[in-house]
Amino acid sequence: MNFVIIGGDAAGMSAASRARRTMPDLKVTVLEKTMDVSYSACGMPYNIAEPHKKIDDLVVRHAHVFREKQDINLLTGHYVDHIDLAGKTVGGASVDNQKFEFPYDKLLIATGASPIIPDLPGFDLPGVMGLKSLEDGRKIKHFLKDRSVKKVIIIGMGYIALEMAEALCARDIKVDMVKPRPVFLPWLDEQMAQVVKDEVKTNDVNMYPGHKVERIDQATTGRLSVVCSDLTLEGDMVLVAVGITPNSDMAEKAGIELGIKKSIAVDRGLKTSDENIYAAGDCADAFHIVTGQKAWIPLALRANRAGWAVADNVCGKDVQLPGIVGTSVFKVFELEVARTGLNAQAAEKAGFDPVEVTIKTRSRAHAHSGSLTIWLRMTGDRKTGRLLGTEMVGKEGVAHRINAPAVALHGHMTVEMFGQSDMAYAPPFGPVWDPMLTTANQLLKKI
Ligand SMILES: Cc1cc2nc3c(=O)[nH]c(=O)nc-3n(C[C@H](O)[C@H](O)[C@H](O)COP(=O)(O)OP(=O)(O)OC[C@H]3O[C@@H](n4cnc5c(N)ncnc54)[C@H](O)[C@@H]3O)c2cc1C
Repeated sequence: MNFVIIGGDAAGMSAASRARRTMPDLKVTVLEKTMDVSYSACGMPYNIAEPHKKIDDLVVRHAHVFREKQDINLLTGHYVDHIDLAGKTVGGASVDNQKFEFPYDKLLIATGASPIIPDLPGFDLPGVMGLKSLEDGRKIKHFLKDRSVKKVIIIGMGYIALEMAEALCARDIKVDMVKPRPVFLPWLDEQMAQVVKDEVKTNDVNMYPGHKVERIDQATTGRLSVVCSDLTLEGDMVLVAVGITPNSDMAEKAGIELGIKKSIAVDRGLKTSDENIYAAGDCADAFHIVTGQKAWIPLALRANRAGWAVADNVCGKDVQLPGIVGTSVFKVFELEVARTGLNAQAAEKAGFDPVEVTIKTRSRAHAHSGSLTIWLRMTGDRKTGRLLGTEMVGKEGVAHRINAPAVALHGHMTVEMFGQSDMAYAPPFGPVWDPMLTTANQLLKKI
């Protein structure tokens, strides 16, 4: 049987490796348009922060290992431009302009997502960069070094923009951030978003929310200007980090059904509207466990997990994934920012009757030195008492603590059940009543 995979990163290579392990006589072909496979995109801001580190350090497994040790027919520099559902073939062209066509019995689309580049003048100028692929990271590293960049303008204020602000500051590069919407981190509690904003400003990053970018100009010196109606910011480089969009055009053209935000619609077994075609990772949607509805939340774990599930299903098992709850975490300077599930606004949209509490608590027992503030917002449903989501901000004890409510959401726990959970305690790690339990108990009073 021919198992063909389009895309050779998290979802694609997870599927290829697992399929090969499970079914040694399966013919596995991976078609990847770039020359890079199996790398940690998530590590790029941290790698960029360190000029002496090679971007290729982020490669988890090199192409030759897949080819020589795992017997996977991995073809890099192979851009797939069409899928023929009736003929069960995929085709395209390689970097050296050779046309190719591969037959498949089972196909996985694992094409990921692309950065959104606004259709405005100047976004194609040299020095205007996006950060999605390893090649993007490589280009940014070279540019920073070759041009001795002193100042960068970041358009966008999401998690990748913030991680990059920190990375550039670590290299003593000045950073200005600008975005059209006035609200910073709109999904986060206002007070908690202010804590994050203060942290960014304390690190000498200038933030300009609420300014619509009109164009980017370039002077003869090469210096770039980001022009808004009421503001102009100048720098040596511009990073565009305004979001990503699923790479689903090819699937759509082939006649495969799309779902939310133009991601490829899949069932719990990752199958698309075509019997022989699966989709996994950033290009595909998923079921949200809290709402029961489809969601598009592009993150690394779900891409890897979906890749595994596809491999299992191609190899004859029947794996059905329960779904996601949107658990995510990022670091910005000293702060950890995490969330899982829904906030009240999203919960209301999904038909719940949400109630929430926000509390300020401590990361360690009250008499333990070094204790730091943790801000926590928790949302529950008045009608059913269900826990719906949690957000946290703080300098310690946030990143891993978010996994407790994430697991509770998977288990459809009520706030009361969650508040009764037996959580660990020792003074260096938290108060005897863990911040999660304190917040759940406060929320329970309001439900
Ligand atoms: C800077 C950065 C930081 C991140 N940090 C985090 C984090 O901290 N935590 C987290 O959970 N997630 C993070 N992510 C997101 C995470 O990296 C993605 O969710 C994950 O890589 C998705 O894997 P994927 O396989 O679906 O897609 P991708 O990793 O995008 O891989 C898709 C592959 O398909 C190839 N391809 C696309 N179209 C074609 C075609 N037509 N023909 C052939 N090949 C094609 C692409 O070249 C690419 O190699 C981060 C992403 C970035 C960019």
